[in-house]
Amino acid sequence: MKSNLSIKDLVRPNILALKPYSSAREDFTGSVADSYAFLDANENPYGEYNRYPDPYQNNVKERISQIKNIPVENIFLSNGSDEVIDLAYRIFCEPLKDKAIVFTPTYAMYEHYANIHQTPVVPIALDKDFNLPKDALETILQEKDAKLVFICSPNNPTANLLSTSDITKLVENFNGMVILDQAYIDFADQNHWVSKIDKYPNLILLQTLSKAWGGANLRVGMAFGSKEVLSYFNKVKSPYNISGVAQNEALKLLGDVQGFEKTTQQIKQQNKVISQALQELDFVVKVYPSDANFILVVFKDAKQVYKYLISKGIVVRDRSFVVPNALRISVGSLKQNERLIQELKKY
Ligand SMILES: *Cc1c(COP(=O)(O)O)cnc(C)c1O
Repeated sequence: MKSNLSIKDLVRPNILALKPYSSAREDFTGSVADSYAFLDANENPYGEYNRYPDPYQNNVKERISQIKNIPVENIFLSNGSDEVIDLAYRIFCEPLKDKAIVFTPTYAMYEHYANIHQTPVVPIALDKDFNLPKDALETILQEKDAKLVFICSPNNPTANLLSTSDITKLVENFNGMVILDQAYIDFADQNHWVSKIDKYPNLILLQTLSKAWGGANLRVGMAFGSKEVLSYFNKVKSPYNISGVAQNEALKLLGDVQGFEKTTQQIKQQNKVISQALQELDFVVKVYPSDANFILVVFKDAKQVYKYLISKGIVVRDRSFVVPNALRISVGSLKQNERLIQELKKY
């Protein structure tokens, strides 16, 4: 981003002008312990779930701050990372005018939310190995109304990490926000982006408890960004965007770093086992390298293999309309993976 440009220049005027909503929990700044009764939020005095949760999820943020080595003020939590995608459009894109850029094939939600917000999307094809194309920056700079660039690394459904220097070039030169979606980053050996939040005010990292942390049901996503950028996300989000139940359960998950590391290692190792086994099948055309917990595989006839696996009780994802003859296979448990390989060998 040009040094004479500020985040304020990128935010929609109505969002800049928006007065933050102040919930009952925020209005009261006194001591909770010294208060006799909270009669300020129209809550029910009875029951287990009667109180509104912490709107800023500070306990969860403090835990994430320790684990990720990132200050609390650079963390925003969301109702799944999809909420961050939705908010990004609301904050930065004037409907029917400002554009978003995506690198295809990629996660469909970027375009889905763009359609909801009437934001035109400019798709740029990844190259044949699913890396950013050489002329990505030039193409983006031609799009004068582009406000958001989504980069997914490791990318879904192709499973590969994108090159750090390619991404850096875009972050440094694009005069808009770059959202780097790292939903699968715990499966890849790469954690340097978190330390670059301070350096790049236009960079937002997206992570989640849904994949390596095994918390998809909780709907807890994380965005890491500058304090200034996150202030707009806090202003626009629903006040109580993560339930107290989810916050408590998230704290439990985040308390078990050892368990997290163990399952992550196992999934990474199993990824190699499945990839190797797939490569040995004569009806497999190509197994793409994977830095995630899933594998993109090209078959001679993907639809047939898909139907066959369903008949054996194994459900994979048909991605043949984005990558011809490709299925996306998630790494399962040891037993599930064994069964998958066994059934494929009998095909
Ligand atoms: C699974 C996934 C997410 C996570 O979404 P949540 O809303 O946090 O569950 C984000 N981005 C990509 C690319 C994904 O595949």
